[in-house]
Amino acid sequence: MSGPAPTPEEAAARADALRRASAVLTIDLAAIVENWRTLSALAAPAECAAVVKADAYGLGVERVAPALWRAGALTFFVAHLNEGTRLRALLPDAVIYVLNGLMPGTAQALAADRLRPVLGSVPEISDWSDFCRAEGKRHPAAIHVDTGMERLGLALEDAVRLSDNRRLLGFEPSLLMSHLACADTPGHPLTGRQLKIFTDVARRFPGIKASLANSAGTLCGRDFRFDLVRPGIFLYGGVAVSGVPPLKSVVRLDARVLQVRDVERGATVGYGAAERVKRRSRIATVALGYADGLFRAAGSTDARKGAQAIVAGTRCPLVGRVSMDLATLDVTDLPAGAVERGAMATFLGEGIGIDELAAKAGTIGYEVLTALGARHLRRYLGE
Ligand SMILES: *Cc1c(COP(=O)(O)O)cnc(C)c1O
Repeated sequence: MSGPAPTPEEAAARADALRRASAVLTIDLAAIVENWRTLSALAAPAECAAVVKADAYGLGVERVAPALWRAGALTFFVAHLNEGTRLRALLPDAVIYVLNGLMPGTAQALAADRLRPVLGSVPEISDWSDFCRAEGKRHPAAIHVDTGMERLGLALEDAVRLSDNRRLLGFEPSLLMSHLACADTPGHPLTGRQLKIFTDVARRFPGIKASLANSAGTLCGRDFRFDLVRPGIFLYGGVAVSGVPPLKSVVRLDARVLQVRDVERGATVGYGAAERVKRRSRIATVALGYADGLFRAAGSTDARKGAQAIVAGTRCPLVGRVSMDLATLDVTDLPAGAVERGAMATFLGEGIGIDELAAKAGTIGYEVLTALGARHLRRYLGE
């Protein structure tokens, strides 16, 4: 950690916060910045933006966005208008796009914070145009063209019509974008189709910056990068697809052991008596549950092994279901006395990545991050 050394009062406050904490989430801002730099170098000469929607994927936009700005990121994407307003207060000079676009009656609010809506339908485009004409000012906005996701974005015919009548636009189109549906599935045929369609559409809008790639798309090759790439998950240490530059893991999650107990062979552990121990076992009950982002689906039953955590340097399996505030670990194989009340169990970090935990719960790293919740003591490293 850099920065001035803590005063004795600060050090005492930190020690107290740590004593009181049931779980500690440690977020490495230096790793996020390094991941952004790695992608930025890879994407050059395209600009590397940063996607910080959903509170920077759950990691805290207040700390993450300024760190990325100081590293040189100029363009940011959020999903909600309110996220944009919050980000504007943090970054007065950044370019900020709002992916969810223009909701009715919000044009004034967007313009007041110099937020650029990502316009994805004809009504949004005419609303923003009308607003700009009424104000006598061509506020910037992005145009989102759908190329196969069928979620948000202008239909292709509408995009073509618009390109033939650019004077219909009452605003300044500062970015033309689309979004890939399957970039993280190497060789998926939709990815190539979307690239072809977007390349054709982009040609119809000369002089407007174009952007297609999310994290995985950035690695699909030079053709996918256009003028600007929009990584999110890779900044936060999400899975690296094959051939990727090494990205740093960013989060660590430690939870307190509340007690260690011996259970007889044949006893069942936790709700639903879902797992029966096959030997006399030692069970560590830890202060982490599904309310803290440890998915219930990552629990363990007789039929299916669950997630693991590291205790005293050893991987230990969950035993039984995850409850709201608690989980139970099988620490039988640790030497006697190796784990005691008050020790920490590591659920993320020390080689356990968000994608491993996600796989145990049948989900993806994105959901692990955004589900981490607000109950942990949060510590930020590297700033
Ligand atoms: C969330 C999002 C991104 C970032 O996606 P990652 O897979 O996290 O890199 C980029 N573009 C759009 C439109 C998005 O919604």
